[in-house]
Amino acid sequence: MNILFVTSEVHPLIKTGGLADVSRSLPRALHQLGLDIRILLPGYPAVLKQLPKARACCQVISATADGPQARLLQALLPGTEVPVLVLECAALYDRPGSPYQDASGKDWTDNALRFGFLCQVGAWLCGPHSALDWRPDIVHCNDWQSALIPALLHHQEKPATRAVLTIHNLAFQGNFEPQWVTRLGLPMESFHMHGLEFYGQLSFLKSGINYADRITTVSKRYAAEIQTPAFGCGMEGLLQHRSDDLTGIVNGIDEEWNPALDPAIAASFDATHLAAKARNKRALQRECGLTRNPAIMLIGMVTRLTHQKGLDVLLACMEALTQYPVQLVVLGSGEAAIEQRLQHWAHLHPDRVSVTLAFDEALSHRIMAGCDLFLMPSRFEPCGLSQMYAMAYGAPPLVHRTGGLADTVTNCTPKTLADKTATGFSFDELTPEALQTTLLRAIACFEEKKGWRALQRIGMRRDFSWDKAAAQYLAVYRQLVAEA
Ligand code: ADP
Repeated sequence: MNILFVTSEVHPLIKTGGLADVSRSLPRALHQLGLDIRILLPGYPAVLKQLPKARACCQVISATADGPQARLLQALLPGTEVPVLVLECAALYDRPGSPYQDASGKDWTDNALRFGFLCQVGAWLCGPHSALDWRPDIVHCNDWQSALIPALLHHQEKPATRAVLTIHNLAFQGNFEPQWVTRLGLPMESFHMHGLEFYGQLSFLKSGINYADRITTVSKRYAAEIQTPAFGCGMEGLLQHRSDDLTGIVNGIDEEWNPALDPAIAASFDATHLAAKARNKRALQRECGLTRNPAIMLIGMVTRLTHQKGLDVLLACMEALTQYPVQLVVLGSGEAAIEQRLQHWAHLHPDRVSVTLAFDEALSHRIMAGCDLFLMPSRFEPCGLSQMYAMAYGAPPLVHRTGGLADTVTNCTPKTLADKTATGFSFDELTPEALQTTLLRAIACFEEKKGWRALQRIGMRRDFSWDKAAAQYLAVYRQLVAEA
């Protein structure tokens, strides 16, 4: 079976969040199951720089006469056997900044074209005029940046490729002025509420939800949540309408997140040799300028600093938190106001609070390895990967019970500890009081060394491999191909 996996980021070529991790691990796991899967992604400077030996495989024939000049390059995704098709188009992608925003944090003003073109090329590779002698049976779209493909296929004559859309985060929708409908090669007749239109705009994500043959999202709980007004971001009605075609498949984590083999950390450890974790904690305290105290609970956070991640609730607890026997290490970047408020606390308590405003892959590994508890009070969380990395690294997560966090973290109680299912701490209402109470519960547990060790080990022995998820995606693909 041939699969075209279209995405806007792939680790290690370009990463802003969990989508990049999934876009590496899932295709790799599917490739290992014998699928001919190829990744299509834009040729940002960081991607081209890391693939100097990529070979040109074809010129892109644009659907419109004034379409940009572009070609496809092919290489293997580093560390895997999975081919990547890189869409090289200097006019759209050769610029500094993140894939989505300029250096000042503003969305690129031509994002409709940048990702609309990615979608057009994805649809072209599925159709009869593709320059490749390879046709996908399935095109797997990820988030809004590739979600226009199903609509483009729908308007092709006799499309032979079936479309799967995975929603990694419903809050990012790709909504643009209606003029983009025709500019991106779609008929204005499909600009209505059962097609491309969402509150007067062209919505990439809504059109994907409408036209994809199957929709998946990244946890069962989030699949249910997005069908409600509280989490549906205005699309709950449509998602309810498509609920028979909507599946929740929880992500796995990549093999590189393994504390026994991780080259980025100070000392290797595993569930049977946990004592060495203390060396990582010492190294992290030193690196972050915190008091070197093995007995104090070291709390870690690695996250986008946004409202979604519940940073406002954490900030409301900071006064109390600095009274508790804990230290806090935060690595992240995002909203300026949150960055400033966090830095304020780090300046007030440099021996207790460390804030690094950066995107630093190696430091994120050192934090997982060195911290005792991992904090993730997300307001909503489609799946979340960091809580699983934390469990694998013997740092029980403390989470708000939502989305994938609810599906992957089992709250520690005397009962769940006794029956060996406890993996962390969770609470229902996202309030400063609930966060503080849960933190106090975690601190009490931490001071009971035997129970804490047991909790760490249960988490470390959980199976987070991609095999289970890959088998479920394969079942979705097979069903679609069989229907075709
Ligand atoms: P999301 O995709 O919503 O940001 P996830 O938990 O699914 O959240 O994935 C986040 C990924 O991005 C993880 O791999 C995490 O380690 C990584 N990450 C987030 N912020 C940073 C940062 N500042 N430095 C390094 N890695 C980061």
